[in-house]
Amino acid sequence: MDWIDLRSDTVTRPTEGMRQAIASAEVGDDVFGEDPTVLRLEERVSSLLGKEAGLFVASGTMGNLVALLTHAGRGDEVILGDRSHTFLYEVGGCAGLGGIHPHTLENRDDGTLDLAAIEAAIRDPSNVHFPKTKVICLENTHNRCGGIALSPEYSDAVAALASRHGLIVHLDGARLFNAAVTCSVEPTRFTRSADSVTICLSKGLGTPVGSVLCGTRSFIETARRMRKAVGGGMRQVGILAAAGLHAIEHHIDRLADDHANAAKLAAGIDALDGLSCEQVGEGTWSNLVYFSVDGPALGQPELDAEALCGRLKERGVLALPLGAKSPRIRMVTHLDVSSSDVDTALDALRSSLRGT
Ligand SMILES: *Cc1c(COP(=O)(O)O)cnc(C)c1O
Repeated sequence: MDWIDLRSDTVTRPTEGMRQAIASAEVGDDVFGEDPTVLRLEERVSSLLGKEAGLFVASGTMGNLVALLTHAGRGDEVILGDRSHTFLYEVGGCAGLGGIHPHTLENRDDGTLDLAAIEAAIRDPSNVHFPKTKVICLENTHNRCGGIALSPEYSDAVAALASRHGLIVHLDGARLFNAAVTCSVEPTRFTRSADSVTICLSKGLGTPVGSVLCGTRSFIETARRMRKAVGGGMRQVGILAAAGLHAIEHHIDRLADDHANAAKLAAGIDALDGLSCEQVGEGTWSNLVYFSVDGPALGQPELDAEALCGRLKERGVLALPLGAKSPRIRMVTHLDVSSSDVDTALDALRSSLRGT
């Protein structure tokens, strides 16, 4: 079956052009620092983000983990949002592997943390009872907050606060290019307020594998050791970096298409009886669409998120229910979803709601 797969932007398959780039990549042993394609990718991404150096890593999870292991030690504290990917979905790695103490603050619906709450969470370094606050993490775009982009001005305000307290800012920019595109700014507008940043190549940019962690040269030197420690030293990995270089050249500007498709999908969903979508109205939305189904209102009390996703699947459309107890469903637009696929998905939703 030719699925329309809206579960995630990680489901993309490499394009023909990307496969050719992979096939012709020049490679070497990257642990020896001898893979020219990896070196080119690290250089390209770090200059795009206005940072001194970059490090190719296996995943966004590894990028964030290596960043935190590099910035903070055992017993140090990191401030992060209670809906952040790092807190929710990265297996507690910073605590489990690094002994780093997570101090969560409420993520507001726009993905931000209240500045006064950050200020209040920072520990008095002279008090012997307290862990030392080292890092503040931001996420942009914010996955669990509906793919919203945090504003450059907010990012600057967090950076200013961090700098007043001598703290480090790490940016989980898994979808940073989506944020730049939806805010119509250069990615550096966000990264200048962060000491380190992770970007994912394997989300909307459409590569099979890979993320890049960027920061100062000395940060990256230490991060390279941490990457080795967590088993992330890879060898002729230029075949993957080549996909990343191809994506950087060809798949950033087109994220605007994903955003337009997501906006069309969101509006179409919100217009259907029994469904309410979160990504409607004003907002720096991107390629994520979250909505809830109200089965009882439709006279179908059995129609919860999982049941609706089941009906969609019978119609060739894959969507992600957010768990047994949640009425929410996620749909994501990406490289392999066209505007007419959105029409097809909306038709499938219409008939799924009727149950016919
Ligand atoms: C996907 C994602 C990650 C982790 O990336 P993986 O490559 O899946 O490990 C980190 N942060 C955010 C916001 C993400 O969406």
